[in-house]
Amino acid sequence: MKLKDKVAIVTGASKGIGWGIATVFAKEGAKVVVVARDARAGEPTAEEINSKGGEAIFIPCDVSNEEQVQAMVQKTADTYGQIDILVNNAGIGTYKSVLETTTEEWDRCLAVNLKSVFLCSKYAIPHMQAVGKGGIVNMSSVHAHATVNGVAPYVASKGGITALTRNMAIDYGPTIRVNSVAPGWVLTPLIQSIFDSYDNPVEQLRMVEKRQVMKRIGTPEDVGYAVAFLASDEASFITGTELFVDGGMTAQLEESW
Ligand code: NAP
Repeated sequence: MKLKDKVAIVTGASKGIGWGIATVFAKEGAKVVVVARDARAGEPTAEEINSKGGEAIFIPCDVSNEEQVQAMVQKTADTYGQIDILVNNAGIGTYKSVLETTTEEWDRCLAVNLKSVFLCSKYAIPHMQAVGKGGIVNMSSVHAHATVNGVAPYVASKGGITALTRNMAIDYGPTIRVNSVAPGWVLTPLIQSIFDSYDNPVEQLRMVEKRQVMKRIGTPEDVGYAVAFLASDEASFITGTELFVDGGMTAQLEESW
C-alpha cells in the first residue's frame, strides 16, 4: 500500500474528485480526514470508508475561513498526532466573464479556490516540519494552461494555484514536496450540474466524451490515483510540478478528423 498509516487531510472530500481521492487514499492505507462544509455529504463519505475497512473522520470546515481552517488542522493533529499529507482540492466553479462577475463573486471564488490553499498550507506545514517530512498536492485545472470563454474568476484562481505550487515547493523543500494536478473533464456533481443546465444532459456528456483523446470523461478515481502517486514515496524526487490528468485534452490542438 502506497500510503500506509499516513495521515491525510483531503479538502472537498465529501463528493466529486475529493471523494475519489479520499477513497483511493483509504485503499492505499491512509487515515483520511474528510473536509467539507456540509455534514450530510461529508459524514457518509467517512462512514463509507470506515465500513469498507479503511479509516476516516469527517471535520466540517469552510476552507476560506481562517479560524475554521486552524481548528480543522488542530483537530487532525489532536486526533492522529501527525499530518503527513495535505490535499487542497476544495473548489467552486464561477463561470462568468470579467464584465459578468460581481466583486462579491470574484472574492468568493478566489477565497474558496486559492486563499484556501494558502490557509490550509499555512496551518498544516508546521506539523509536517515538526516530523521533517510531508507532501502537499493542490488541485489546479487544465484551465491554468489554456481556457475557454466566460470563466474569468475560475481561471485566475487555478493559475494562481499552479504558480503557488512552484513557490511552496521551493520555500519548503526538501522537507515538504508540493505538486499540483490539472484535471480535464471529470464527471462530478459540479460537472453534472453543467450538463443538467442543457435540455439534453446526456447529449452534452456524449459530446464531451467524443472530443477526448481517450473517448471518455474522467472519473474521480482517475484523479485519486494520480494524487495518491504524487503524495506517496514513489514520487520522492518529484516536486514543484503539475501532472495533467486530462485524457489527452491538452495534447491536441483540434479533434482528430
Ligand atoms: P464538486 O463535485 O462540486 O465538489 C466540491 C467539493 O468541495 C465538495 O466536497 C464541497 O463540499 C467542497 N467545498 C466547496 N466549497 C467549500 C468550502 N468553502 N469549504 C470546504 N469545502 C468546500 O467539485 P469537483 O468537480 O469534485 O471539483 C473538485 C476540485 O477539482 C475543484 O477544485 C475543481 O476546481 C477541480 N477540478 C474539477 C474538474 C472537473 O472536471 N470536475 C476539472 C478540473 C479541476 P461542501 O459544499 O459541503 O463544502
